[in-house]
Order: sequence, then C-alpha cells, then structure tokens
Amino acid sequence: MIDDLLEPLIAFRRDIHAHPELGFCEHRTAGRIAEQLRALGLEVHEGIGGTGVVGVLKNGTSTRSIGLRADMDALPIHEQTNLPYASKTHGSFHGCGHDGHVAMLLGAAQHLARSRNFDGTVNFFFQPAEEGLGGAREMVKEGLFERFPCERVFGLHNWPDLPAGTIATRPGPIMAAADRFEISLEGRGGHAAIPQDTPDAILAAASLVTQLNSIVARRIAPTASAVLSITQIHGGHTHNVIPAEVSVSGTVRTFDAAVRDVIEDALRKIAAGVAMAHDVTAHVDYQRCYPATINDAQAAQEALEAARTVGNAQIAPEPAFTSEDFAFMLQACQGAYIWLGQAKAEGSVPLHNPHYDFNDDVLGLGIRLHVALAERHLAKG
Ligand SMILES: [Zn+2]
Ligand SMILES: [Zn+2]
Repeated sequence: MIDDLLEPLIAFRRDIHAHPELGFCEHRTAGRIAEQLRALGLEVHEGIGGTGVVGVLKNGTSTRSIGLRADMDALPIHEQTNLPYASKTHGSFHGCGHDGHVAMLLGAAQHLARSRNFDGTVNFFFQPAEEGLGGAREMVKEGLFERFPCERVFGLHNWPDLPAGTIATRPGPIMAAADRFEISLEGRGGHAAIPQDTPDAILAAASLVTQLNSIVARRIAPTASAVLSITQIHGGHTHNVIPAEVSVSGTVRTFDAAVRDVIEDALRKIAAGVAMAHDVTAHVDYQRCYPATINDAQAAQEALEAARTVGNAQIAPEPAFTSEDFAFMLQACQGAYIWLGQAKAEGSVPLHNPHYDFNDDVLGLGIRLHVALAERHLAKG
C-alpha cells in the first residue's frame, strides 16, 4: 500500500536535497510541502514559527489527536558527496537528513489521507531551524499546541549508528541539553619582563581551565552524567607582552535540570574565584541553548509498540550527548523522540559529515512508523 508512494517521494527527497535551505530560510521547501499537503485536501497553515508549516487531517468523530514532526533545515556545510542530486547551493547541505524526514512525513500524510484508517486528528508539523536556532521553540511560543492540540507528539530522526530496519527509543532522557559559555578574563596588559606590575590573564586562564575540569569530577554524583569541554582559548599576540584579555569558551551537556544548575553555578563561582586570586576581572556569558530531550515513559512505550509492528524495535540502552530542539515540543506535550536506523551493510557516514546522505532504503519504514503511530493512537472503535 505504501510502496507505490516511494518512487515519487525519493525524487521529491532528492529535489529537496539539491535545494537545501538554512534555518528560518526554508521558503522553497515549506512552499513545496504546503502545496503537496493542499493537493491531499489537508487544512494547511503556513508561517508558524517563521517558515513552519502545519497540515491538519481529520477523520471520523473522535476528539483524539496526535502530532508528527519533521524538521526542514539544512546545515552550513559544503557538500562533498558528488551525488547527481548534490546541493546546488554552495555552503548549504542536508547533512543531517532532514530532507529524508520531510519526505517520510509527507509520505505518511499521503497514505493517511487516502486510507483514513483512523478516528481523530493527525497534525503534521514541518518545523524550521532545528540546527541550533530553535525553530521548534518558536513554533511552541506561537501557540502550536493551543492551536493544534495533541495528546501525543512524536519526532523521528534518522540514525547512522543503528542498522537500517532498526528503530530505537527509550523512556526518559534521549538527547542532552546543550549550553555554551565564554569567560573573558581582563587584566591591564603590560611588559612580560615586569610581572610584578601586571596581572597575568594567561596564568588565570590556565588555572581556570584546570578548575573548570574539576566540576564534573567533584561536584556531580558519579551516578549522574555530564560533559564540560573547553574548546577555545584566545589571548596574547607576541612574546614579550602580557595580554590584557584572555577568553576561555566551551560547551556543557547534561540530562538533568538540577545537574545543569549545579554546573552553571559552579562555573560562575570558579570564574569569580580565579579572577579574584589573579587580580583580574571575569565576565561570564553562559547561554542555555537546547534543554534535554526527555521522552514521556508512556509515549516511549507506545512508540516501541508501534515500531514493533513495522520493524526491529529496541530500547536504546543510553541517551546521546548531542542535542535536539524537539526537546521544546516535549516540554509542551507528552511524546517521544525516536531513532530510525539507516546504516547500510557496508557501514555509514555520520551526521553532519560532508559525505553524508540520507538512506532512501529506510524511507518506506519511516512512513510506516509514522502511520503506525497515528493509527495506533487514533484506533477506530
Ligand atoms: Zn543535525
Ligand atoms: Zn538533525
């Protein structure tokens, strides 16, 4: 029943791949999606959270409802696949497979619009700007779940670490919260030969790096998990000058809001303490980007049950330390984030790599999973 949809959908996926658009600029992509949803007879809403598109499909009399989400944006990477349908836009590339996500959700809309084997409302959410810009947050802020109420919301992401045919999810945390920080240490600057007159921002930065690395080891319980990585130090320009300013930057990943609070608090205290000890001043810019993606236990169970009807379903043993702005939808609505395996027998290319491409062999499985989630939650009778 779904197989006849695949050939045109693969062509559609490759067209989106050839015309990638960065976050909040998905005008062509959103336009093509809206056009297709309208042709299916769905109620279509555009411009939600920037370039977001929502398609609403109702059947029967039930007030039950479900939301299914796909992200639409590309990454600022120069594609190096040499595929016939490679990106025509220099420096923009579907390196996270969101082209595949769009095609799978559109396929589910096509199938459900004609089969109508459900009773209730299916909301198809095509969101902008997943890659760092928080398109899901913007849609939620604009009242997504008030305008299109959902008892459950599910998001599917292709997963190169799992073999094609495998579907995995887990109750509780599945993706990490991602924060970034920059600490500027400011002294006065002066002659390197007269250290007694010049506070040393370089030495303060060295101490800061060591102290910050003690936070996870000494302040967080061994049974919890977190990452603090320092990824940049900038300061100094020549051999005989003590610089006036040095900056230290990095990222923090956590799964638990309390652990996140402890880390930010400790980081601020250490920056202040180190600055005081070295007679410099510290300015801390700590930005909480995406929260942790936390699956509702019941919704994760439902997702696994739906997955079992279409593929090889498994409980993911541990969460990933990467992050995902579907987290904002899960803060507003019970639901689950699901990994769709896409590795070929010969291996796989990781997400965000310039040689990556979505595996069209799993497109049908992704459609079947979306359909199973909708038909299961909105079962007739
Ligand atoms: Zn990505
Ligand atoms: Zn992605």
